[in-house]
Amino acid sequence: MAIDRFGRDIHYLRISLTDHCNLRCVYCMPEDMTFRPSAELMQDDELLRLVALCAELGFYKIRLTGGEPTVRLNLVELVSAIRHTPGIQSLSMTTNGVLLERLAQPLAQAGLQRVNVSLDTLNPDQFKRLTRWGKLEQVWDGILAAEAAGLTPIKINAVVVRGYNEAEVSGLARLTLEHPWQVRFIEMMPFAGATDLQLRQMVTAEEILERIRTEVGPVEVANDGELDGEARLFRLAGAQGELGFISSVTQPFCAACTRARLTADGRLRLCLLREGEVDLLTPLRAGASQAELRQLILDGIWYKPWGHGLAEGVIPLNRVMSEIGG
Ligand code: SAM
Ligand code: SF4
Repeated sequence: MAIDRFGRDIHYLRISLTDHCNLRCVYCMPEDMTFRPSAELMQDDELLRLVALCAELGFYKIRLTGGEPTVRLNLVELVSAIRHTPGIQSLSMTTNGVLLERLAQPLAQAGLQRVNVSLDTLNPDQFKRLTRWGKLEQVWDGILAAEAAGLTPIKINAVVVRGYNEAEVSGLARLTLEHPWQVRFIEMMPFAGATDLQLRQMVTAEEILERIRTEVGPVEVANDGELDGEARLFRLAGAQGELGFISSVTQPFCAACTRARLTADGRLRLCLLREGEVDLLTPLRAGASQAELRQLILDGIWYKPWGHGLAEGVIPLNRVMSEIGG
């Protein structure tokens, strides 16, 4: 079991399969983003070796993310290999949904269990403006394909950006009236690459909730007030689905954190919003033994920071969001 010095049991690994992406969301990366050469990223065998090691250390829950995980070569084979790694019980993915219509079925057959799809607006023009390159229709078709393939319960992730989509939150919330989906509103966090916008145009979860109350109707607390991962859950009267609020900036959930992250270039990142990382790929490529790699992971987890320092103005600037994976 991997335990940190605060007694937290760290068992949830979020893996960025690639820093590359087929969209350019304004809150994530600049339009002229340059990506790492593929040779610098974990290759399939390297990734699977690290997954097996982490599973031996008690990680049983994995989320694949990116960049855009669906642009990774051999994705279906990788999913199958991860799902069959002894100890892995839960395997999900966060995706922009652009390629899901084609991939949902093969991914489900390979052992993927659930997807979170990012969708920040139901307005095609706003969608294009936010993602720079995206077509809303493709993502919508991807969500329906994921649902048909049984990658459920479907969760929709919406980052709310002032001046872009804050007026769209009610439309997204209304989706839960007719669909058994969890629509989650995420407070925008600051990283490198789009820091000015991330700091100036953040909308708080409280403001989003208030807007939904005013424009759609009353909400009641769901899930007995327990967090679902990092989300506080609510339900609109008569709704099939739920609303989730991820207030990482204004109400962090660090005390309940069970996560570590593996960046696309093979660094163990102990906190999304702290720069500290442990390089696993360089020693792995230099011939480190299983015992040496295991010790690097355990030591890294032990020193996992208590929480982020946004309230004190500490912003992680060593990477853009897509390299870490969210
Ligand atoms: N490309 C995939 C996607 O968009 O779902 C997976 C990677 S993306 C980095 C993971 C999640 O992080 C997405 O839901 C995205 O909306 C969110 N995200 C990106 N930049 C963010 C930021 N600055 N603050 C909060 N969430 C962000
Ligand atoms: Fe790509 Fe996801 Fe970042 Fe958008 S949020 S640019 S889809 S990695």
